[in-house]
Amino acid sequence: MKTIRLKSSRPCRVLEGHPWAFAGEIARNGATIDDGEGVELLDPRGRSLGSGIWSNRSQIAWRRYARTPRPFDAAFFDEALSGALARRPKGNYRRLVWSEADHLPGLVVDQFDRVLVVQALTAGADRALPELTAWLKKHLEPAEIIFRNDVTSRQYDGLPLEVRTASGAPLSPAWFRIEGVEYFLDLTGGQKTGFYLDQREQHLRVASFARGRRVLDGFCNQGGFALQAARAGASSVLGVDSSPECVQAAIRNAARNGLSADFLQANMFDWFTDNRSGTPFDLIVLDPPPFARSKEAMEGALRGYKELNLRALRLLAPGGILATYSCSQRVGTTDFLAMLADAAADARCTARVLEITGQPADHPVLLNFPESHYLKGAILQVE
Ligand code: SAH
Repeated sequence: MKTIRLKSSRPCRVLEGHPWAFAGEIARNGATIDDGEGVELLDPRGRSLGSGIWSNRSQIAWRRYARTPRPFDAAFFDEALSGALARRPKGNYRRLVWSEADHLPGLVVDQFDRVLVVQALTAGADRALPELTAWLKKHLEPAEIIFRNDVTSRQYDGLPLEVRTASGAPLSPAWFRIEGVEYFLDLTGGQKTGFYLDQREQHLRVASFARGRRVLDGFCNQGGFALQAARAGASSVLGVDSSPECVQAAIRNAARNGLSADFLQANMFDWFTDNRSGTPFDLIVLDPPPFARSKEAMEGALRGYKELNLRALRLLAPGGILATYSCSQRVGTTDFLAMLADAAADARCTARVLEITGQPADHPVLLNFPESHYLKGAILQVE
């Protein structure tokens, strides 16, 4: 196995336990390394930092998959995939493999009942895909595997964007029953791998507060929060999303499940402006897309989050509940709570924290890998 070395002892995150090393931090000593090859990284004093997959193109040149020197091969895949599955809670709708958090940098596998949706986001995961897929077929016997390799970050590794199925046959959208609600999902297109599996537990958590309440589901996508709230006995439900496809899907889902919920297409910021003095709600969900995609975007993102949360707090009836989320990796839990405190101060309301929420167990967070902790939330009640 080839070895490479960190240049000099300037501060590198990999020395603090982070699983990445950047191209500029590494001395290759003329070694040619293939994209996706496993190489051992040594610290400046020659001590091993473990094995990582290599990329010749990406700024993130080395991503650790093991703490010991060992090739990125079938024996390793067997161990990593078995470990990932063993860690997962039971269920038919869940993330089975999640990248660095499961020792397979760049590999994402989501299970939608008998269909697996797979993404290979790095050269290493892409090169290993045939072997990884063979393992998944053998051990999980899925009816179909969809490769959703249309994520733009693949381009950092010079990989083409494509969507295909393992069988080669096209896959039509179909009904999937997730936590008792049927959704018509197109797993070959749309946002994420077809559904926000990471909010599945929160849909139920928020629904537990919904009985008898007037519910607003802001950024509703295909209706996850709205439909579970309707099912739990909300007195009225309104879902808002800016995507016409999402609103159509949510309406279709509500009808299929015999649930009473209204959905409308609007930009959430405009909707709040237009409904500033409208009828209040007793439960508001805010689950926006990531606002802070870069460090530079942080300030604007926090302004955006605050604006939304302030408007939501103002539209809550006394005793009302706000379930609010951020999936921006760069916005940490502390930033998020400070932003909410700021919004509550401006709204001049006393908000009590019922729960601080995070990621479900099938989206594990690594302590030394802040990039794995993207989703945070709070459930608040106003007096
Ligand atoms: N709550 C959903 C997931 C929300 S994802 C669930 O649990 O399934 C974020 C959603 O916000 C996407 O559906 C996207 O279409 C929508 N969106 C993005 N920008 C928006 C805006 N300015 N106003 C309203 N919706 C927006």
